[in-house]
Amino acid sequence: MRSTEEKGKETSSPKEIWKECLSIIKDNIPFIAYNTWFLPIRPLSLVGTKLKIQVPNSFFIEWIEEHYNTLISKTIKQVIGNDAELVYVIYDDGELFPPITETIEEEKPKRKTESLPEKEFDSYLNPRYNFDNFIKGESNQLARAAAIAIAKNPGETSFNPLFVYGGVGLGKTHLIQAIGNGVLEKFPEKRVVYLSSDIFTVEFVEAIQNNTVNDFSNFYKSMDVLIIDDIQFLIGKEKTQDLFFHIFNTLHQLGKQIVLSSDKPPKDLLGLNERLISRFQWGLTADIQPPDFETRIAILKNKSESYGIEISNEILEYIAHNITSNIRELEGCLIKLLANSSLNSKEINLELAKKTVREISTSRETNISIEYITKIVCESFGVEENKVREKNRRKEVVMARQVAMYLSKKLTRSSLKTIGLHFGGRDHSTVIHAFNSIDNLMNEDEHLKETVDTIRNKIELGVA
Ligand code: ADP
Ligand code: MG
Repeated sequence: MRSTEEKGKETSSPKEIWKECLSIIKDNIPFIAYNTWFLPIRPLSLVGTKLKIQVPNSFFIEWIEEHYNTLISKTIKQVIGNDAELVYVIYDDGELFPPITETIEEEKPKRKTESLPEKEFDSYLNPRYNFDNFIKGESNQLARAAAIAIAKNPGETSFNPLFVYGGVGLGKTHLIQAIGNGVLEKFPEKRVVYLSSDIFTVEFVEAIQNNTVNDFSNFYKSMDVLIIDDIQFLIGKEKTQDLFFHIFNTLHQLGKQIVLSSDKPPKDLLGLNERLISRFQWGLTADIQPPDFETRIAILKNKSESYGIEISNEILEYIAHNITSNIRELEGCLIKLLANSSLNSKEINLELAKKTVREISTSRETNISIEYITKIVCESFGVEENKVREKNRRKEVVMARQVAMYLSKKLTRSSLKTIGLHFGGRDHSTVIHAFNSIDNLMNEDEHLKETVDTIRNKIELGVA
């Protein structure tokens, strides 16, 4: 722990001080909660031990005080000193607060080699990844059960190596880190290390440059549990693969535990040395599939509870129906919902949930096509598809055409020009005109707004 005496006071700027606080806070709460509640805060001034910070609205203050009071007061005491005091100021209405739709990238960890108490290295495990908050479902049953067994008896099950594979955002990193945390909880003396294979590669290259390849290799050979994430990044890196092969053999012979993750099963890792692929299959290969509806609900319930909020089943079900393929997005949606609600001081209701899901859906690369939009719009208006591409001026055709253009603009990333081309080669100003008139009409005409929203939901559901 750092000493508090030499900290802060007149020498540090509020910005620096706050930055230091943030780095502590960030390690202690879920990443998205950090993004939602702490990133929008602006440090204003530091007078003595009084740090003034600016928040978007009073809801922020309530929320932060209610949920993060202990963490914050501990943190500022640690950074500023025991008399530290935090003062909130609400952002002036007159000015625009920067939107917090952009989340920052999770930093790639850099291994710290300086001494730590007891063990001379950092395991690089994030304590928030554990088994308790890893929701069980059919989609992850085998992988989870094997992981739990390993955490109890590392190196002593037949699951060595454990090879977990699956798509993005499905929980691989969470699960394999939970193994590491689980082992250390039960066997604090064990040497456990987690890293991703690209970091392994970077370190290896550095070791070559520094002439320390032996140290590097011995370090990993000395582990009781070696956890390597995203092993697919070793593809095409022959020398790193060779070294990893030797480390793998040594550890395996010593009965040490190896845990690996990848985006594909071993046999599909084209470009990876055959002898590694065959070793990866010695133990257990377990996949993680996208979660089913019930698991998605359970995850949403669990996460919302952990943020300390209650969200109605109707809303949770709406989210679970609409975000189906990725747990990271599910989590992102929830936190964005909280953010939308707090930033605009609105209660969390279904309408806000729909808006949030839409934001998430459109920020993702969608595979909604203009053709598909046209088809659904025309079905809903009872208009033949080819009519909207012709120069037909019948009222319902014009309406269908304009709605289809409007939704194409909203739901795809196509340019105005491309959209125009899909509707009989109309030019971009026609598309803008269509967009604006539907946008205006929707504000005036509840019925039309409802119709368009329904069509939009249909399109998004059909593609999901
Ligand atoms: P991957 O490594 O497969 O891309 P992550 O492990 O990073 O996915 O998971 C993405 C997010 O989803 C993380 O915040 C993680 O905590 C969460 N998550 C994934 N699976 C589960 C689960 N079964 N229960 C609870 N949270 C989960
Ligand atoms: Mg991962």
